[in-house]
Amino acid sequence: MHRTITAGMTLVLAMASHSYAQEGGRLAAAAGAMGAANLNSIEYSGSGQVFGFGQAYEPGERWPRFVQRNYTAAVNYHTPGLRLTQVRSQGEHPPRGGAAQPVAGDQRTVLVVSDKFAWQEGAPQAVPNPAAVEDRLRQLWTTPHGVIKAALANAGRVDGSTVTFSVAGRAIKASLSEQNLVEKVSFLSSAEVVGDYPVEIAYSDYADFGGVKFPRRIVQTEDGYPTLDITISAVRPNANVAIEVPANVQQAPPAQPVTVAVEKLADGVWYLSTPNARSWLVEFNDHVVLVEGMTGEARSLAINAEIAKLVPSKPLRYVINTHAHYDHAGGLRTYVAQGVTIVTHELNKPFFEKMWARPRTIAPDQLSKSPKPALFETVSNKKVMTDGTQTLELYHMKGTSHNVANMIVFMPRHGLVYWGDGYNPPAGNEARDPGRTPEQSIDLYRVITANNLDVKTIAPAHGAGPKPFDNLKKAIGLIAP
Ligand SMILES: [Zn+2]
Repeated sequence: MHRTITAGMTLVLAMASHSYAQEGGRLAAAAGAMGAANLNSIEYSGSGQVFGFGQAYEPGERWPRFVQRNYTAAVNYHTPGLRLTQVRSQGEHPPRGGAAQPVAGDQRTVLVVSDKFAWQEGAPQAVPNPAAVEDRLRQLWTTPHGVIKAALANAGRVDGSTVTFSVAGRAIKASLSEQNLVEKVSFLSSAEVVGDYPVEIAYSDYADFGGVKFPRRIVQTEDGYPTLDITISAVRPNANVAIEVPANVQQAPPAQPVTVAVEKLADGVWYLSTPNARSWLVEFNDHVVLVEGMTGEARSLAINAEIAKLVPSKPLRYVINTHAHYDHAGGLRTYVAQGVTIVTHELNKPFFEKMWARPRTIAPDQLSKSPKPALFETVSNKKVMTDGTQTLELYHMKGTSHNVANMIVFMPRHGLVYWGDGYNPPAGNEARDPGRTPEQSIDLYRVITANNLDVKTIAPAHGAGPKPFDNLKKAIGLIAP
């Protein structure tokens, strides 16, 4: 149906733009109500709960919970800079799920961004993290007053009580209460396993702190489940927040391409390592098998290049996935796009199929650019992959608190074992990981002995393997350290 623009419609359009100007006034009203105009910096702190995104016990379940003993954000809106200090401790008793639990004692992390630089503090020297700049700036501009400042600075549009603007590479939507206070902020984020997913931050229970309104409760959800739930106990408007960029961070090179370290574990078996992520490459008569497609596509492509150098004549036919935690499954899609069969526990298949069909507008990958169905071989209790010369045995880790559909991979001829999580051997001769209590390491030992596996060497996904099997026994107190 065609319509010509009539005088009446022109009037409607004029009224619409008039109302737009008034709604722009609502943003100014929100700045006034929140006390944003004269706020140059702020420091706020509280405590509550924090959760491990992508580390559920069961695929699709809520994220595992930790106690957030302290949450302190120091923001400078001019720099712009943010220093976020978090102290967490174990929240699940018994442990349930991943995210490096069961945590021993308190764990402190300090994440910082200052204009074009991002880094972690806590170690003797700051650890540069140039890849985190945009995420942390988005975190800064989605704080209660950051929303108002970013909307005003980036031509934010107002429609009723909804404000939309773009900052740090993402479209942000915020809603205002009747009192013109920011009560909800939402945007899309992206993870390699699930693609686009929603992040929502709810600000509630506002109070006045020296003329500045600030929420006393902050609840953030990611992909439908809470990742942060804190009660704010102290707010210091215009606190002195000076964030100096350490010299080594200023001089750090930009984010580097992934490089793979190669170590031979046995004949036809290699340990392929990137920082904190290790896979096995296993050579069979007429093909190769990769154990664990970790992290994401950049790593998978770097691993592919290494496979082509090590075994140029044989195709990669299978990738074994120990469990569906996002750090262990983030690289799988690259192999699906290559037509490689994914070997995983049967409980993971419907989860992967559902997640891999989701939209990927933020970070398209090879599979989203040319979609194809994933090929699976699933495992229930045990699976043996052999061609007579090389043998891989896969065992379901029944009863582990880390993940319900978790597997270990064993090579009987070499006495080699691979697991995703449960025990990360420390570097050097020390066997015990001081950051963890041993429950999930005991799960590993129990599954190994229940299946009568003659393990000599552990070479797992994280930590400083390969190490003697005795290190696991020392870690759980079976033999003296
Ligand atoms: Zn895990």
